[in-house]
Amino acid sequence: MQELINASYFVAAILFILGLKKMSSPVTARKGIVWAGLGMVLATLVTFLTPGESTPFMPTDNLVLMVIAIAIGGSIAWISGKKVAMTDMPQMVAIYNGMGGGAAAGIAAVEFARGHMQGTVLFTLATLGALIGSVSFSGSCVAFAKLQGLMKKAFRLPAQNTVNVLLALVTSGLGIAIVWFGQAAPACLLTGFFICALMLGCIVTLPIGGADMPVVISLFNAFTGLAVGFEGYVMGNPALIIAGIVVGAAGTLLTQLMAKAMNRPIANILFQPISGEAQAGGKIEGTMKEVSAIDAATMMHYASKVIIIPGYGMAVAGAQHKVWEMTESLENTGVDVKFAIHPVAGRMPGHMNVLLAEAGVPYDKIFDLEEINSDFGRADVALVIGANDVVNPVARTDKSSPIYGMPILNADYASNVIVIKRGQGAGYSGIENALFYMDNCRMLYGSAQKVIADVIQNLKSME
Ligand code: NDP
Repeated sequence: MQELINASYFVAAILFILGLKKMSSPVTARKGIVWAGLGMVLATLVTFLTPGESTPFMPTDNLVLMVIAIAIGGSIAWISGKKVAMTDMPQMVAIYNGMGGGAAAGIAAVEFARGHMQGTVLFTLATLGALIGSVSFSGSCVAFAKLQGLMKKAFRLPAQNTVNVLLALVTSGLGIAIVWFGQAAPACLLTGFFICALMLGCIVTLPIGGADMPVVISLFNAFTGLAVGFEGYVMGNPALIIAGIVVGAAGTLLTQLMAKAMNRPIANILFQPISGEAQAGGKIEGTMKEVSAIDAATMMHYASKVIIIPGYGMAVAGAQHKVWEMTESLENTGVDVKFAIHPVAGRMPGHMNVLLAEAGVPYDKIFDLEEINSDFGRADVALVIGANDVVNPVARTDKSSPIYGMPILNADYASNVIVIKRGQGAGYSGIENALFYMDNCRMLYGSAQKVIADVIQNLKSME
């Protein structure tokens, strides 16, 4: 039986890894999710076969509880997964990820309470997993509350960084004491340790806001993976170890990718957060100039090269299907149309790729920042749809700007720029966009779906 269990965990681990590999391309991502999901189903089923000990804490002695937990968790996940809007994905990722961290910390708590654990190595790993899992759980809950609008965006304590460091030192000290005492660790020490670790997650996350939030969620995701991996070792469960390592590595890479795309070192995100409220920047000269849907359609109809830059506003408006319809209409009259995707356009990496793929845009029309930035100088029209920060030229020029140094799409280098947005609202970072005031830029006001429908109507009348 044990061989069968180990072999099944091994197969589950292979499915996780292959699934993750497939998720790295939009073409195979759906299959990747199914493969990783099958791995998870297999690992869960095999757990039911694992022989238990006669103790109230072993899972196989709690089969009914396991089934009830799976039924409740599975139903909540199914319903929320079906209902969640693409724009609410960050908070959904935050809360699910937090649950993973909480589960890892829970495993550690049960292992401490059982009093069966032997040896410094196991105690060290269990304590590390408990610390990281608790921080990830409480931090992710705060992140969820902020993004869901349940909490004021930024909340900073006086001497915030000193408080963070002191609390981290106290928590680590309690953790070292747990390892030192081993099985003799008193309940008050364990309780104090968990309370401090949970507080640490909250206090570190409270001041973080604005564009830094998704990066922190991704960092907690990496933490959860690490915590799960440690607790997998403690339980001697290879599937948990491998799943934890895979999640930890993927979360770390994603965090680095996002931080790099925003030009924000991780230390700055944690210790010098942007509040999310408007920041000062240099004064921008000029005025915004409006254009009508018919004039915008005419400019694109007579263009030979158009580059479309989708952003968060396109996602909110759910305009991706209309955008593809407009693209087809332009291509029918011989216009070369490409899509330029900034790595942090929208609210999660890959947000725009997923939406465009859903609308049927072929992958060979979608280009990353490095691939397309040199094309803008040859484009007749750059059409910005609900994007703002990712095309803001102050990122290149204004050292006082909070987005200074962030790589941007060079929309301003195109001969003409048309920006679709509802009004004069700022982007996610809360700052003015110098592009909108430039001589070659025209504003096409309105919600993206409605405006593009108007443009399509005008394009059709010109065909
Ligand atoms: P922004 O959030 O900068 O701007 C979105 C624009 O869309 C707003 O200016 C808004 O203007 C407009 N808009 C909103 N609703 C609509 C609508 N219905 N129709 C048309 N326009 C609309 O988006 P970007 O995609 O350019 O930038 C993403 C931001 O998110 C960056 O600051 C990035 O750093 C941050 N971020 C992204 C992450 C990621 O992984 N993708 C991770 C971390 C942060 P108006 O209100 O006037 O309509």
